Amino acid sequence: MGKLYLCATPIGNLGDITVRALEALRSCDLIAAEDTRRTRRLLSHYDIHTPMMSYREENRDAAGSKIIGRIEEGADVVLVSDAGTPGISDPGHDLVIRCLELGLDVEALPGANAALTALVLSGLPTSRFSFEGFLPRKKGARRRTLEALAPDERTLVFYESPQRVADTLGDIRECLGDREMALARELTKKFEEVIRGTVFEVAARVAEKPVRGEVVLVVRGASGEAGADYRKALEEVRVLRARGASLKDAVGEVAGRSPGISKSALYNAAIE
Ligand code: SAM
Repeated sequence: MGKLYLCATPIGNLGDITVRALEALRSCDLIAAEDTRRTRRLLSHYDIHTPMMSYREENRDAAGSKIIGRIEEGADVVLVSDAGTPGISDPGHDLVIRCLELGLDVEALPGANAALTALVLSGLPTSRFSFEGFLPRKKGARRRTLEALAPDERTLVFYESPQRVADTLGDIRECLGDREMALARELTKKFEEVIRGTVFEVAARVAEKPVRGEVVLVVRGASGEAGADYRKALEEVRVLRARGASLKDAVGEVAGRSPGISKSALYNAAIE
């Protein structure tokens, strides 16, 4: 039996790769890459000539079966995402599950990751954080997700595309309030930039000069007081539900008597 290696690759600066990752890329039988063009640039930079195949969202079932077949025949396959750590907000996770279900060996070669890099640069609390990946693209679903996060006291980390960032900042401000945040773009690249401020200030900067390149948003969690108010309100909703009230009625009653608690945020948090 061979093995599946989850190999982190640079999120920008080609120097951000480990010695182990380079050895694995050089000596494995096959590299499964989410973006073969981007990976080819990395491989040619390090003069690596290992055969490569495509493994991405659109072909993940068929390509995944092919990779599993090769591992079962004894091949070592290295999985790389378009950048960063495979398995985080990319189809890598699906392949890991399939391999584990079949009892195949999986090993991680850790390295660059966009979420953690942005978090540590943000200046916001790092002791507790919640990685939220990409928010839903549809406005209604995006707002429901954000409202459910309103009581969360942990620092929130989101991935976003430059095209949607202005809309997303508007929704964050409306659903979470004007909190402190950081927008990190082009991390580890020549034009790396971290814009820190309140959501309003960061949105104003983005409106003035649209951002280019890949983006991570890091948002301060709910203040201890707001989080405690929501927890108390959620507990009251639970009690009313246990007494037979519908979710809608319970939320309506509790929100009605709790100043500062948004009814829709409470409703979405209660569903969560
Ligand atoms: N698996 C990768 C990871 O977490 O390490 C992430 C893959 S995800 C499809 C790509 C997203 O990561 C981008 O949309 C952006 O939000 C973030 N990202 C990747 N590289 C970045 C960079 N250099 N600067 C800022 N954000 C980046």
